[in-house]
Amino acid sequence: MDAKRKEVEQLLSAKRDIDLRIEEIQANCKHEKQVIKQVANRDGFDIRRVCESCGQVVGYPSAEEVQSFLL
Ligand SMILES: [Zn+2]
Repeated sequence: MDAKRKEVEQLLSAKRDIDLRIEEIQANCKHEKQVIKQVANRDGFDIRRVCESCGQVVGYPSAEEVQSFLL
């Protein structure tokens, strides 16, 4: 295995660990404080209801909430 490949493997492994830790935090969070936020997607941004503590997308904002967010 060349050095670059090895580094990528190590980074991917670290990324898996980090993703698991974030998932665990989000799974144990009660999402008590929710805010309307822009969330990055492939084409740009979506407006979503997001937990302020753990960052998990918890739902869709109402049309009114989208409008007041955009104003
Ligand atoms: Zn949360």
